[in-house]
Amino acid sequence: MLLSRCAWHPRYFGYPLVEGVVSWSGWGLRFTDGICPECTTRFRAEYRAFIERRDTGRELEPERHVA
Ligand SMILES: [Zn+2]
Repeated sequence: MLLSRCAWHPRYFGYPLVEGVVSWSGWGLRFTDGICPECTTRFRAEYRAFIERRDTGRELEPERHVA
C-alpha cells in the first residue's frame, strides 16, 4: 500500500498531512512525498519573497574590506 503525503506540511503547518492512497498494491505501508496545494501556495510566496530580496537586497552581498 502506497500513501501520498505532503513533504512540506510539517514545516509550514507543524503536522504531517497524508493526502491519499496512491496504490493499494504491495505489502506493508510505504509513503511517497509530494506537496499539497496549500503548501504550494506558501512555497511560491516564500520563493517570490526570496527572489525579490535577492534582486533588491544589497545588504546580503558580502562586505568588501580594502586592506
Ligand atoms: Zn502540505
